[in-house]
Amino acid sequence: MSGNKVGFVSLGCPKALVDSERILTQLKLDGYDIVPTYEDAQVVVVNTCGFIDSAKQESLDAIGEAISENGRVIVTGCMGKGEDADAIMQLHPKVLSVSGPAAYEEVVGAVHEFVPHTPAHDPYTDLVPPQGVKLTPRHYAYLKISEGCNHRCSFCIIPDMRGDLVSRPIGDVMEEAERLVRAGVRELLVISQDTSAYGVDIKYRTGFWNGRPLKTRMQELCEALGEFGIWVRLHYVYPYPHVDDVVPLMAEGRILPYLDIPFQHGSPDVLRRMKRPAAAEKALERIQAWRTACPDITLRSTFIVGFPGETEAEFEELLDFIRAARLDRVGCFQYSPVKGARANDLPDPVPEALKQERWERFMALQQQISADKLQQKLGTTIEILVDEVHAEGAIGRSRADAPEIDGRVYLEGAEGLSPGDFVEAEVTATDEYDLWAG
Ligand code: SF4
Repeated sequence: MSGNKVGFVSLGCPKALVDSERILTQLKLDGYDIVPTYEDAQVVVVNTCGFIDSAKQESLDAIGEAISENGRVIVTGCMGKGEDADAIMQLHPKVLSVSGPAAYEEVVGAVHEFVPHTPAHDPYTDLVPPQGVKLTPRHYAYLKISEGCNHRCSFCIIPDMRGDLVSRPIGDVMEEAERLVRAGVRELLVISQDTSAYGVDIKYRTGFWNGRPLKTRMQELCEALGEFGIWVRLHYVYPYPHVDDVVPLMAEGRILPYLDIPFQHGSPDVLRRMKRPAAAEKALERIQAWRTACPDITLRSTFIVGFPGETEAEFEELLDFIRAARLDRVGCFQYSPVKGARANDLPDPVPEALKQERWERFMALQQQISADKLQQKLGTTIEILVDEVHAEGAIGRSRADAPEIDGRVYLEGAEGLSPGDFVEAEVTATDEYDLWAG
């Protein structure tokens, strides 16, 4: 096939990656070839990220590079709305079209407008893989279950960019999951802005999958995904009481014993100022109950230090929370004001040097906890999903490791192994983040 040629630059988080995959799949279906160089492309699509200022700068630089290397550029994604969109047009007036996040039809429509469709192409006979175009390795895939968010955390502008929660019908989600599994995917990573809120916007409407009624709700989704017999990992869950009901599915091995819960802080006052969902829930009690119901559950979280007005006492509360919660995987960010976020108007910003100092104290404590927890795995036998195979050995992940954000397992000897294989091995060494097994 020799269709019209489109270049693609994908920036940002897993949610933006899923948008890119959707756009690429549609372009392939419409007969376009996706090419890896600027010079071969008739137009370049840049999927931008607008989450923090450094991401915006990276997006603007990518647009500038595409303009100077190719000249015909279509911009989409999180920076494609409001003031950011105006800034793009001012800085790069030659940009052909700008659209916001998840605006699949607009992007694809712009490509059709500026690089008209080749009539010789037959979308029914040209080859598009049945699982669509995936930018992740073929053995794992992100499964996006909703768009937008009903919360209004004061540091976040995602609801302004992506709007309120819109859940995808459960039948569509399950069909996509089934296609991915049939195409060889061995791990599904469920993503959204708030996975625990799935279906709230459509009152948990009943949908159908293979003729079977299923409610559009996290519990039913997890039960149905658990039937595939592959790894199913939940991201961006909040500690609401109904989350307790999915933990038994983890204990039974139907979905991975893994919860990614962005707690963001351990001080109730800071959480209130952040306007966090589930701020009033007793997180430590909930964690304890989950560990009782499923002893090998892995808990991942992210935190922000240096939020406006954070006092030394509130920061100490955060450290106490970390000491008590003993979470397995933790990311920590220094607060950085995002343009348009309500938290920018809060009084008493924390000086940069103090943010850095608190971040270092936080990281030193968590590294010790993480190293201790991994050391407890020495001598145990774990299941590993192989990601890469090299002459010296293979690199994979345990059930406790999500791709790209968690640790890795270095496996001695890779004979006969391929990416996507499951193997069992004994843990022979550990450090703060990674395991070695053989
Ligand atoms: S839950 Fe809060 S941080 Fe997450 S997307 Fe919604 S508003 Fe933003």
